[in-house]
Amino acid sequence: MRLLIFLLALTVTQAVADDEPFIVVLGVAQDGGVPQAGDNDHPGWDDAARRRLVVSLGLVDPSSSERWLFEATPDIAEQLVRLGRIAPTRLRAPGLAGVFLTHAHMGHYTGLMHFGHESMGARGVPVYALPRMTEYLSTNGPWDQLVRYENIELRELTAGTPVKLNKRLSIRPFLVPHRQEYSEVAGFRIEGPGRSVLFIPDIDSWDAWDEAGVQLESVLAEVDVAYLDATFFADGEIPGRDMSGFPHPFIAHTMKRLAPLPPAQRAKVRFIHLNHTNPALWPGSEARKVIERAGYRVAEPLERVSLGAANPGDSP
Ligand SMILES: [Zn+2]
Ligand SMILES: [Zn+2]
Repeated sequence: MRLLIFLLALTVTQAVADDEPFIVVLGVAQDGGVPQAGDNDHPGWDDAARRRLVVSLGLVDPSSSERWLFEATPDIAEQLVRLGRIAPTRLRAPGLAGVFLTHAHMGHYTGLMHFGHESMGARGVPVYALPRMTEYLSTNGPWDQLVRYENIELRELTAGTPVKLNKRLSIRPFLVPHRQEYSEVAGFRIEGPGRSVLFIPDIDSWDAWDEAGVQLESVLAEVDVAYLDATFFADGEIPGRDMSGFPHPFIAHTMKRLAPLPPAQRAKVRFIHLNHTNPALWPGSEARKVIERAGYRVAEPLERVSLGAANPGDSP
């Protein structure tokens, strides 16, 4: 009898855990992907294990069968397949309740083209972005055609104002200091019923955020997992090019800055948006060992983070 009760309890716990919303990592690379165009000798052209798709997160709520995408990358076709295998949908393609965009650099929005007339011919996909970004999309070709043909439906975000997705999920957009040629730049805090996840794929520097009055440490304290810009491992990574032209916090700098924090805070950090030159892309590399020894992690393709209270464990 006791065994029966135990098994019943286990089944109920499992059912609750399976029902919790979660984040799944659909890409970890910088805008150009891995391998990058022009890098013709890269082993990734022949070996899928050496490829990495451009940075993207999927958000899934199994109880409502809803799915959202963070970023529309040049790899979106493949990312939709991966998302579909994890969270199948019978809805018309792309089967998304919405897409959240951070900014107008090529890795973060150009995948929208697949929703258009020449490809999927999607109907009214909600696309969430800050005001300059929505203005950019609705006033510049070819993106304005997606709006006119109603392939996408723009939903303007306000920095600092959360958007409620359903009764247990909401997204809080905020401004991030980063090159702003065509749009401002957003970061997102994804809030679930039990846990929350921070997503900052691009930022010029943590110091620039300090100057804007926001400390990374305080933001980190308020979330459970933080996917942070890790474009380059350290200075000198691109031989022959002045790296001040690519302002991003080096992983080495971020680790040094957060070193005084307790281990539980450091363990929240998962580095993402890695350039094709970044040695930390590869499990087992010396760079990866340095990161892990210091108590941080690198985002792995298809890893999941539960947003529920019932299932604090994450599965890679
Ligand atoms: Zn980027
Ligand atoms: Zn960028």
